[in-house]
Amino acid sequence: MKAFRCGDVVPGCTREFTGTDRQDILDQVAEHARSDHHVEVDLTLVQAVEQHLRDR
Ligand SMILES: [Zn+2]
Repeated sequence: MKAFRCGDVVPGCTREFTGTDRQDILDQVAEHARSDHHVEVDLTLVQAVEQHLRDR
């Protein structure tokens, strides 16, 4: 399993994600980013997420 904390990229956000793999996390983050942060996922965001992915 992979895990990602949004707060590692967006200070103050407490949302956490767990998923089966990188793509699963990215799908969840994309939806969260759109609805809660009003941003679209771009390459910079994808790279930021990948840097902070943890194994769980
Ligand atoms: Zn967030």
